[in-house]
Amino acid sequence: MNNEKSLSVSEIRDGLRSGKFSAAEIAEDYFKKIEKKDKSIHAYLNLNKKSGLEAASWVDSRLKSGEDLPDLAGVPIALKDVIMSEGLPCTASSKILENYISSYDATVVKKLKEQGAIILGKTNTDEFAMGSSTETSAYGPTKNPHDLERVPGGSSGGSAAAVAADMAVVALGSDTGGSIRQPAGFCGTVGFKPTYGAVSRFGLLAMCSSLDQIGPFARSVKDAEMVFEEIKGEDRYDATSFDLPDRRLWEKEDLKNIVIGLPKEYLEGGLSKEVETTIKNVIHEFTDMGAVFKDISLPHTKYALPCYYIIMPAEASTNLARYDGIRYGRSKDAKSLLEIYEKTKGERFGEEVKRRILLGTFVLSSGYYDAYYAKAQRVRRLIREDFEKAFDSDKVDAILAPVSPSPAFKIGEKTQNPMEMYLSDIFTIPANLAGIPGLAIPAKNKEGDLPIGFQLMGKWGDDKNLFSLGKLYESI
Ligand code: GLN
Repeated sequence: MNNEKSLSVSEIRDGLRSGKFSAAEIAEDYFKKIEKKDKSIHAYLNLNKKSGLEAASWVDSRLKSGEDLPDLAGVPIALKDVIMSEGLPCTASSKILENYISSYDATVVKKLKEQGAIILGKTNTDEFAMGSSTETSAYGPTKNPHDLERVPGGSSGGSAAAVAADMAVVALGSDTGGSIRQPAGFCGTVGFKPTYGAVSRFGLLAMCSSLDQIGPFARSVKDAEMVFEEIKGEDRYDATSFDLPDRRLWEKEDLKNIVIGLPKEYLEGGLSKEVETTIKNVIHEFTDMGAVFKDISLPHTKYALPCYYIIMPAEASTNLARYDGIRYGRSKDAKSLLEIYEKTKGERFGEEVKRRILLGTFVLSSGYYDAYYAKAQRVRRLIREDFEKAFDSDKVDAILAPVSPSPAFKIGEKTQNPMEMYLSDIFTIPANLAGIPGLAIPAKNKEGDLPIGFQLMGKWGDDKNLFSLGKLYESI
């Protein structure tokens, strides 16, 4: 099979049904592509070749017997290495989980397997999803397929790079403060962070449980939507999950009268020239399609980053307490119980993870809890209320914003300065704190050689509307 043009989810679905190709041919083709391209990109940590090919023949045998298969049957998909898939390693790109093999499927993986999707393998991430570049991975960084000297973004950089380089048709990532949208922006793919709770977190290695969401990467909004439709929904193993309301505000063919909010706090300075010009181009494109823009204010935006860097480490330090050397990754030279704790964590966690555990433990400690953690929770509420006001009082249907202040930066450029690295998530973090959906889409008319994404944020539960809006943008 000679497949130079990358296939979409619906092209695979139609091609399988019409007999143009078999699921086994598609799967083999993707494993070959990975073997060829991933030497220089390093998007994958491990591959699922044997079971992947078996799953593909299962799909072919179903097709032969004339069964009507679900949309994702035979679709090659990559999983960020914080999502459990039974029998495959799940390392979170950490030394502490170097030898850990998942003993069960995450709910999202179970759903994908039921559909007959082909799991290609697990992709690189910043260690425990803490970072914005994949450089904190204990297994070395992923390279941006558009420029191998640059980062793919993070933390789900492996998934973004795999989709961008057509080493997967679609991929899953997790987004706690931007880890789907920011790498999607850097790699020129679509990336979607659903409304908090729309997708089950069961089987996702927890970083910050009140912010984490699993979502798709794809080469089109339509493909991302097709994956989201299959992984979403209430799950009895995740008490925060629920079924999204089935509301669709616009069914229109064009954007007439759709009101898009432009938050001044996101656009007043701090943007690179390329991002600023690109966002202006996107605004023009939407205006030409009939959308109406409205200036809005989200006044607490400036507190989002500090608020996140209290809540996230607090929850992460609690979630990571289980990695104490008793069950996972014990250091070999530990002799006493105390040494097990000290050596395991000391040797097997990277610098960024240690920094966040220390920070989180500090903000939760007695005497500081009220000053930091409790206060950050109150600020989080104000940030959520800013968005509610924009959607309910200013009556905007969606909000347009940059994904990050600049395009992909060079490998090594920000590793010495954590604050600078943290700043790359300044525009993605608010949506996590507010629990609302965010869709990153590559801009068509971008400035410069690197991909630049823009972000559409929607009202809580309005995931469907964001997809409609995104598809209209893609159709022009
Ligand atoms: N880059 C952010 C951080 O380091 C977001 C990470 C994420 O969304 N998982 O916390």
